[in-house]
Formats: sequence, C-alpha cells, structure tokens
Amino acid sequence: MKIIVGGGISGLWLAAELKARNIPCCVIEKSALGQGQTLASQGMIHGGTKYALDGLLTKAASEIGAMPSRWKNALSGQGTVDLRQVQLERSDQLLWSVESITANLLGFFASKAMRSRMERINPTEEAAFDHPNFHGHLYRLTEPVLKLDTLIQAFSDMLDGQLFTAEVTNLIVENQMITGIETTAGSLKGDVILTAGEGTEGLLAPLDIERPRMQRRPLAMAVCQLKEPIPPVFGHQLGTGSKPKLTVSTHRVGESQFLYLGGQLAEDGVEQDDLTLCRQAERAVEEALGWLEPQIQSTHVFRINRAEPSTREGHRPDTAFVSKAHRLIIAWPTKLALAPALADQVIPLLDQNSATMSFPAWPSAHVGGYPWV
Ligand SMILES: Cc1cc2nc3c(=O)[nH]c(=O)nc-3n(C[C@H](O)[C@H](O)[C@H](O)COP(=O)(O)OP(=O)(O)OC[C@H]3O[C@@H](n4cnc5c(N)ncnc54)[C@H](O)[C@@H]3O)c2cc1C
Repeated sequence: MKIIVGGGISGLWLAAELKARNIPCCVIEKSALGQGQTLASQGMIHGGTKYALDGLLTKAASEIGAMPSRWKNALSGQGTVDLRQVQLERSDQLLWSVESITANLLGFFASKAMRSRMERINPTEEAAFDHPNFHGHLYRLTEPVLKLDTLIQAFSDMLDGQLFTAEVTNLIVENQMITGIETTAGSLKGDVILTAGEGTEGLLAPLDIERPRMQRRPLAMAVCQLKEPIPPVFGHQLGTGSKPKLTVSTHRVGESQFLYLGGQLAEDGVEQDDLTLCRQAERAVEEALGWLEPQIQSTHVFRINRAEPSTREGHRPDTAFVSKAHRLIIAWPTKLALAPALADQVIPLLDQNSATMSFPAWPSAHVGGYPWV
C-alpha cells in the first residue's frame, strides 16, 4: 500500500495517477480535501509566462511551460487523469496594462517563445475592458483558470473509497526505514509519500534527516466584497516590475461577488498590517479596474504560507520537488500547475514490491471550502 499524506492537489493528482496504474494507495487528510494551499490558490494554470515579463525565458518559465497542455489533456479526458468533470472559470487569462506599453512588455515580446503563447486583443472582445476609459493594452494568454471546488470534487469522486480523514502524528521508523504512519485514527503500514504541504515540516522534524528542508513564502491576499457585480476578471495587471502588479480573480460566493487579489500586492502586503493593506488593496483595484467603477462593500486580508523546499536565498524554487530517503518520499509541487510534474517524478521512485494491504476503516475525507471567504 502506498500511503499519501495530504489531500491537496499534489496528493490527489498522484493518487489518481497511481489508481490509473492499478497501484494500491490511499490518501490521509487531516482536515478536508484541498483545504491547505490548494483551495486558497487562484487556480491559474500558467505556463511560466508571468516569470518571463523581462523577456528572459528562465529555467522556471521553460520547465513549467509544458504544464498547460498537460492540464488541457486531463480536462478534455485525454490524459491518464480524467478531469472532464472540472469546470473552468475561464479557458484563458488576461494580461493588461492601464497605461501605454511598459518596458517589460517590450522585452517580453522580443522573446519569440513568449510571443507564441499570447496575443494582443481588442478590448471590445472582453466585457470587463470594453469601456472608453480603458486606455491600456490587453493580451490573452491561452492558459486555463480552474474552478477549484469542482477540481477537488472531481478527485473526490474519482478516488472514492481511498480518501480518509486522520491527522498523521508520526512516521513509523524501523531499522532506519520509514514503514508507516501513526495517526489520530490508528496506525497504518506501507510506503509513505509526504505531500502534506506545510505539514511536512512537522512530520520530518523528529527524523534524523538533514535534507530536504522546507521554506515558507507568505502571502497576504486581500479580499474585496463588492456591492454590485462587475464582469468577471481573471488575470494580471502589469506594471513596470518583472512580476504582475496585481493578480485578480473574481468569485461568486452565495449572493456576493468577491475580488481575490494576489501578485505583488500580496507579496508586499506581508509586511503590512491588515488595515494598511486593505486600504492599499482598494486603491489598487481603483487603479487596475477603475473604469468598471467597482463599489467595494468590505475588504479583509487572508494570510497564508506557500510551503516549498528551501532554496539558498529563500527564492521561489523553479520546479516541482521530490526526494527519497529511508524509503520515505517527500514532495512539494511549488505551484498547483506543477502537480502533474510532481507525480511524474514520484512514480519512478516507488517500490514495486511492497505488500498490498486493505484500506483502513477510517472516516472518509470530504471536500473543503474556499478558506479565504
Ligand atoms: C494564495 C495562493 C495563491 C496561489 N495561486 C496559484 C495559482 O494561481 N497557480 C498555481 O499554479 N499555484 C498557485 N499557488 C500555489 C499552489 O496553491 C500550491 O503550490 C499547491 O496548492 C500546493 O499543493 P499541495 O497539495 O502540495 O499542498 P496543500 O494544498 O497545502 O495540501 C497539503 C494537505 O496536507 C494536509 N496535511 C498537512 N499536515 C497533515 C498531517 N499531519 N496529516 C494529514 N494531513 C495533513 C493539509 O490539511 C492539506 O490539505 C498559490 C498559493 C497560494 C498560497
């Protein structure tokens, strides 16, 4: 039995790949499926374009570049993982500048690899930008944005009977090998794969393992509840920096529409108190989408850590990370988009000859909700 600890996108995608290969596995989740970083994310399957705004195709941009087509295959039922049931927020993302073209964009379009991935479009083609007061430039990037609750539900249906609720409290060590887990519901023997996001750090702490180490890169996401809905927006406002100034996603929750705001605002917001960030977010919305005259009813801040393998200077790792030591596999995808790449790296490391065991009689794990609402 392969025991996958953590029911976020990395554990769920991996379990689906194993199921497709008839490899027995179960997923152990302490709270609810997707409830960690996955349902907190903006669901954007990007192929690295936003890492290349300065025109340089970095390692990150080139390695992640294969992911959108991998997801598109799954979404159309052509991959090993069948995600036909998943709904899209949009099949593309928008990039826009509010003023004239920036130096970054000029560099960006100088790069042939990038030019092939996106096209400039007429603002009249997009309801949110079709306005006389929008004076900037608008581009379309053919990379999807997922409706995350439907993504997690699809995995929950696909892996029915293999998903369990329990908190893993310890790893079982025998003869210096990891041979199972202890949980709040009981213990289980098998080959352990840690895809527990931030929870992996605590599970590794008692072990005598020098590497890998985990790093946290915090984000302070601002969430604006609107009085009246605006046309949906999923994309990135470009400024003069090499990262998007603001990444916007719009979500309907109950009767209300929310703007969920990432990008540089959320990176810089980590150093700010909630009140300062809320006011800054409201100004940022006014600048990014002012022609829509968004009426903000209330704004709050949602703070969350991105959990990743540690890098020398605490920068974003370039790719999905997987390592194996003492029979234990440890994995962080770094991005939602990189979950397929993580599974590709894990599968060749699996022990083929571990004994098959029956599933535990523990409660089933259920699908989580958006944690930022
Ligand atoms: C605000 C934000 C926006 C983002 N936007 C994007 C985006 O648009 N596109 C993109 O590609 N990436 C994005 N990311 C990154 C992406 O969300 C993460 O890389 C990805 O979701 C990580 O998935 P995971 O399965 O490794 O971790 P998680 O989703 O965190 O899952 C880990 C799971 O393990 C469980 N767990 C932890 N400890 C234990 C334990 N002891 N026992 C049992 N279970 C345990 C947790 O409850 C959790 O459900 C974003 C991240 C953040 C924070």
